[in-house]
Amino acid sequence: MLNQLTVSELTAKLAHREVSARETMQACLDQIARVDGQIHAFLSHNAADALVQAEAVDKLIVGGATLAQKPLLGVPLAVKDVLAVKGHPLNCASKILGNFISPYDATVIEKLKAAGAIIFGRLNMDEFAMGSSTENSAFGLTRNPWDTSRIPGGSSGGSAAAVAADECIASLGSDTGGSIRQPAALCGCVGLKPTYGRVSRYGLVAFASSLDQIGPFTKDVRDSAILLEALSGVDARDSTSVAQPVPNYASALSGDIKGLKIGLAREYMIGGLDPEVKAAVDAAVKQLEKLGAEVVEVSLPHTDYAVATYYIIATAEASANLARFDGVRYCARGEGKDPIEMYGQTRGAGFGPEVKRRIILGTYVLSSGYYDAYYLRAQKVRTLIRNDFLKAFEKVDAIVTPTTPTAAFKAGEKSGDPLQMYLSDIFTISCNLAGICGLSLPCGFTKLPKLPIGLQLLGKPFGEETILKIAHAYEQSTGWHKEKPLPAH
Ligand code: GLN
Repeated sequence: MLNQLTVSELTAKLAHREVSARETMQACLDQIARVDGQIHAFLSHNAADALVQAEAVDKLIVGGATLAQKPLLGVPLAVKDVLAVKGHPLNCASKILGNFISPYDATVIEKLKAAGAIIFGRLNMDEFAMGSSTENSAFGLTRNPWDTSRIPGGSSGGSAAAVAADECIASLGSDTGGSIRQPAALCGCVGLKPTYGRVSRYGLVAFASSLDQIGPFTKDVRDSAILLEALSGVDARDSTSVAQPVPNYASALSGDIKGLKIGLAREYMIGGLDPEVKAAVDAAVKQLEKLGAEVVEVSLPHTDYAVATYYIIATAEASANLARFDGVRYCARGEGKDPIEMYGQTRGAGFGPEVKRRIILGTYVLSSGYYDAYYLRAQKVRTLIRNDFLKAFEKVDAIVTPTTPTAAFKAGEKSGDPLQMYLSDIFTISCNLAGICGLSLPCGFTKLPKLPIGLQLLGKPFGEETILKIAHAYEQSTGWHKEKPLPAH
């Protein structure tokens, strides 16, 4: 089935004219028609426009366009509803944006289009990327393709589910505290959060600007490397992007990890870890040793403070970033006799409960009298957490952890208890606070029901090549990524 192909398989077939971009696009659209009624990964897609774009690619290929010029030529990609694509809706899965249509392309979208990709759909998410289950979307649940009574993870749940269900070839998401890696783990795909500054955030609706990064969801590690190269680079429109050379990441995938040092963090061996997750991660560590890596124990002593630190910094930044949604500029405006009442009506009706909770919490920790006690202190702890990692990386090339404490949970299981939900990011949050890179890839399944388990690899700042190399060697020696949730058609 063409929709099951990876980016590297598809582009090779297109270049050899074994398949057309149109028939591949059609295969993805057919799969959406077959399964998305159940899964609801997509908020919208324009089938007619997607086919027109695909036909234009086929003409380019006949005209002699090559992969060297356009490495993603003809690849159908869908994106989280938090990225600006010119002429497409942009809602952040929130009611507050009304029927806003983006007037411009995010930098990553410009880059993907220039590389020949076909951007054709919007993927569901937790409202404004706040959540871990996609249950906070204002437009309904996304369901896990492995078991539709369960959540796909979040906040980029649609991005993970769409790739896992072969509704697109790859997708984009954003990761502020785990929103790429956690849903990738729960849906059985590869998710990469690049180092802070690796990828431009221009055109990504900000949640917490000092933590947010855009990254790919893919069916294998090679595709993750290919997409990361396409997305990366400094951008004059994002002053936090870094002028670090962009390597050919795929060329790092040698399969040889002999002599690399991989750290096991003592503090991550916590009690609440599900036994099947623990067994799968232990087996993965053994496999890495078998491949020639040396496993070394490391310590990240401030790990216990990560979740609390994150929920102060992220909510503080969110309360400032979300102040712009006030009914004056782009929202569906509420009524009111004066501006204050109008803001209240607009924001009261437009934001969902989790977003309101975060804005209130963030406003509180920034308010005078509390700023020093909460926000300033959290910033200091953040530095300690970053220093823990930098110190550990003096000893090791990467750190391995479970991506999540459990496999996918049932819809509704944690939605009434925000704290339980926050704890599902316990292994992913520190990476954003430290500004380092992280990747999740499949490392096994639970038995009954059969649900994917994710392995997380954390790397040094701008150390993506190393974690991709390790992930690839592991993946190729195990083959977990080949398992599919849905029967082939
Ligand atoms: N689940 C975390 C939160 O709710 C992380 C979200 C994200 O990475 N966007 O904030």
